[in-house]
Amino acid sequence: MLSYQHAYHAGNAADVQKHALLAWMIDAMTAKPKAMTYIETHAGRGLYALDSAEARKTGEAAQGIGRLAFRLAPDHPYRRCIDAVRAAHGPAAYPGSPVIAGLLLRVFDRIVVAELHPQEHAALVQAMAPFEADVRREDGFALARAICPPMPRRGMLVIDPSYEVKEDYARLPRLVAEIARKWPVGVIVLWYPILTGGAHAPMLAALEAAHPQGFRHEVRFPPVREGHRMVGSGLFVLNPPWGLEAEAARISALFAA
Ligand code: SAM
Repeated sequence: MLSYQHAYHAGNAADVQKHALLAWMIDAMTAKPKAMTYIETHAGRGLYALDSAEARKTGEAAQGIGRLAFRLAPDHPYRRCIDAVRAAHGPAAYPGSPVIAGLLLRVFDRIVVAELHPQEHAALVQAMAPFEADVRREDGFALARAICPPMPRRGMLVIDPSYEVKEDYARLPRLVAEIARKWPVGVIVLWYPILTGGAHAPMLAALEAAHPQGFRHEVRFPPVREGHRMVGSGLFVLNPPWGLEAEAARISALFAA
């Protein structure tokens, strides 16, 4: 089942939390000269237009990037990425996570991303063309299992599923445990929605029991529409780069303001 399309949700409040922290982590990791690998299991199309019919239909970006992102310092890596895609593609452009990675990583770093949806994959190939990325149309869970531990060993795995398949909540703790065992130095980043029904709670309990050293950050926001179940956004990170806790506190303050 591939009915989820991120074009309806790009730039929403969850994207702001996820992309701001992701950009900060990549920026922190690239401060060191050693090469790194960036892997993403559920990449999306990479580049979005916030004036598209899909984005206008939900209006979610207005409550996300429209309200929040410009409270970030102008030199924040997330802001730098937004400014770069706007300069290249116009004022409504918005970078997805693979493009954020492409913009912040260096030519000698390795990028491997998976996207299963045929149209999203085709768009992603185009969006990633400037970055010499390895863009695969394959199952992201299988990619993570096959490629980790990657070469270079230093690196980050981003897991950002749409949770359309309810089984994802049960399989993700197993996947994270397997990858952490095989790649104990990898920075593993899992995004999850905070839902009124609490569907995410058993998954988090399993993750925290297996990885008590993991770092968890959550923000809350009002539902985008009446009856919408997502009321917050969370990241669970293994081997967080030094300083992430302080940066996450800054992002929490941005949402609280
Ligand atoms: N990470 C992106 C970002 O922040 O810009 C958004 C990704 S979106 C939440 C999830 C994407 O995963 C969708 O584009 C969907 O087509 C894709 N997808 C769903 N199941 C997948 C799978 N098993 N493997 C790879 N991609 C998948």
